[in-house]
Parts: sequence; structure tokens; C-alpha cells
Amino acid sequence: MDLVIRSGDVITAGGIFRADVGVRGEQIVAVGNNLRGAAEIDAAGCYVIPGAVDPHVHLQMPLGAYTSADSFATGTVAAACGGTTTIIDFVEPGAGQPLLDALAARRAEADGAVAVDYGLHMTIPAWHAQRARVLSQVPDVLTAGCSSFKMYLAYDGLMLDDVSLYMAMAAVGKAGGLPIVHCENGALCDLMRKVSVASGRVAPVDHAFTRPPRQEAEATSRAIDMAALTGSPIYIVHVSCAASLERVKAARARGDVVYGETCPQYLLLDWRRLKEAHGERLICAPPLRTATDSDPLWRALARGELDVLSTDHCPFMAADKAGHPDFTTIPGGLPSIEPRLSLAYHFGRAAGLSLERWVDVCCSRPAQIFGLPRKGHIAKGFDADLVIFDPNRVITLASGRTLHERADWSPYEGMRLRGWPRHVLSRGRVIVRNAMFTGSADHGRFVKRHSFQRVV
Ligand code: MN
Repeated sequence: MDLVIRSGDVITAGGIFRADVGVRGEQIVAVGNNLRGAAEIDAAGCYVIPGAVDPHVHLQMPLGAYTSADSFATGTVAAACGGTTTIIDFVEPGAGQPLLDALAARRAEADGAVAVDYGLHMTIPAWHAQRARVLSQVPDVLTAGCSSFKMYLAYDGLMLDDVSLYMAMAAVGKAGGLPIVHCENGALCDLMRKVSVASGRVAPVDHAFTRPPRQEAEATSRAIDMAALTGSPIYIVHVSCAASLERVKAARARGDVVYGETCPQYLLLDWRRLKEAHGERLICAPPLRTATDSDPLWRALARGELDVLSTDHCPFMAADKAGHPDFTTIPGGLPSIEPRLSLAYHFGRAAGLSLERWVDVCCSRPAQIFGLPRKGHIAKGFDADLVIFDPNRVITLASGRTLHERADWSPYEGMRLRGWPRHVLSRGRVIVRNAMFTGSADHGRFVKRHSFQRVV
């Protein structure tokens, strides 16, 4: 064997055991005792877990006059340092652009510029006049390795009406893909925004008031029912509140094929911070909630009622967020591509998340749901994407110092966490050693994902 990781506590979604992990080339070739390799890493006192999979990130994403602050290179270096070895970003086709052309253009931005492996979701654009032509391209997009399709129920220019949503889900489901849906009632949010601005309520916190939990829950219900009507599975991105969670749970109890994710910002940040200094930085959609919502979300992750902890990493520089006359022009989105795994470990233990569930929501479930059969697990035949996680390493999160994210601020600034990756491997190569990035920004590859297979 080329490399053996010795004497760590291996954690998978299925259990915890002390073992050596043997690597040859890019793959795990053995998990057992007394393995020997040409090179060895002593993991005694550490956890050995699968490389984490973040299925919801937006790197160098244009948003009006702005572009999200992390490039493919900086974002994937930050991901690697935090223990994430696979990301899934998005293709956003331009008006009238064939989907495969948009995919090729997005791949041209990322290929050769990523430190970890990556996949892409395809966004279904809201060109109603060209709907049939767009949806006829879905099978070819699947063949090209994008097996999940983003659909928006909010945002001007992106939001799908009911008929478009129904037809898109039918086309994606029939082709073997997975619809992933941003569930907010866009028309209602736009109305509430207009009313808020007209009455002078333009502060950052007013952004949150224009996107209340029940509108999100309404859209979640509608998307779930639409998917059931078409016979398609559905994945709800960024479930932010108890009201939406209840809709997901009710659907699953009925037997609908519904998956749900949440993100660190909905578990750890309180909307009242929008009223404090630099509150404008914390604008995102859905907006921040409160403990009334985060407590049930933690419980749902712990019990398996939600499947995935992703980030929706979409950072903007402090200067991009600052100086706006009202909240409507502030670019929305928060960073967390780097600290996700450790935030989930540090705060998850207190919230009742077992070590196995921690690995499941950060690593294994996203790989299974999104068609990555060689990622997210430690066993013979899987890619040697591995994290040697030191549960006792203490780190104080600080942008520009301990964090590699490009944004010059973090919502988690100053947080002191116990538990951080010591070494990280991507396909057998050590890309982080002693918490220092040692990889290269062209190591990562595009990963073709297979069609949706039901995960129970
Ligand atoms: Mn997003």
C-alpha cells in the first residue's frame, strides 16, 4: 500500500471502530488492523472520517453587479482546509443559452482551478416561452453528469410559475434526475418587500420580516405536492424554519420521496444580529431565524428527519454589503465553506448529533443523494478522500488568518471551536497536512454524477 492511516477511530454513518485505512493510488484498498504502507500517518487520538461533501455552494457566481467573493481556486482551498473534499456548485444558463453550452462554459471556469473534486447542478431557467425547448435538453444534461436540477420559487428572473415547476419536475423525474428546489413564495416576498420599502422600513432586519417562515413553508408544501403529482423525488434546499420542517416531515410520513437540507446559518445565527453593527452582512434568503427554529432543525438532523448539512456558501466582501440606502440592493449570501464540518462537530455534540449522524449529514448522505458512489464513505473501493480530524484541536475562527475563505469577514468571526481537521486527503493525495494546505489548485476534477437512486 502507498499510504496507511494508522490507529485512528474510524467513523462512518454506520458505526465507530478503531482501524487502519490503507490507500493505493487514489482509492481505499483496505480497512483493518496492522496494515503497513510505504508511507504512514499516525492518527491515534483522532477521528478518521470520509472527506466531507458540500452539495450547495456558489463560487464566483455573478449576482447583478456583484460576483461571489470566492473563486473556484480560493473556495476549494478553503473547503479543503475545512475537510470538504467534494463540492457541488451550479450552472446558471444565460438567456437562451443551450444548457450544455452553459455547462461547458462553467466547467471551463472550474477545470484546472479547483483544489478538490466538484460536481455541478443545472439550474432550470425561467424562460417560459422556451420551456419545451429547455426541458428537451434535460436528458443530455444528465448524460453529461449533472443529475440534479435547481428550481427557484423566488427571485425575479429565476422563479418558476406552477405550470413551469410542474413541467420541469415531470421532465427531470422522467429522465432520472433530482429536482432541488429553493422554496420561498417569490411573488409574496416581492409584495412584502414593496410594502416594507414604501413605509420606510428599509433596514437590514426588515429584509427578514419580508420573508417570514410561513411563506417559506407554503412554498415548501407546494413544491412537495408538485413533485408528488409528477411522481418525481424532491430535495428541499436550505430548510430554515420549523414550519417548513413540519411540511417535510409530514410528506415523508406519507411516503413521499422528499429530502431536506439545512445550513449552519439556520442552526447558529439569530435574526436579531441583523439589528446590530454590520447587520447588512448577514442578509441571506431564507433569512436568519431564531432558536424556535434552530432547535427543531438540530433535532431533525440528529434524528434523520433532515438529511444534509450544506452551506449555501455565497460570500460577498464587506464593502459589497455596506453602504446601501436600503436592504433591497444588498447582495445576499453568507460564507461557511471552510468551518462547516467543525461547526457541526463542535455545536452538534451539544445539540445531540451523534458522531455517526455528524458524518452522515456532512459526508455520506450528500454523496448518496447526489449520485457520487465513490465518495462519502470509508470502505474498500471508495475514493481515498479522508479527513484525520483532531477532536481536541482548538481554533478561533478569524477571516484572513485562520480561515482561507476570501471574504474579509465571517458570521462566525471570533468563535472558538474544539475540533478541526489535522490532515486531509483527496484521492490519496495529502492536500492538507498539519492544518496547512499542501495541495494544488488544479488537483480537483469534475465528477460525473449518476442518475437519482432512492436513498432510504
Ligand atoms: Mn443557494
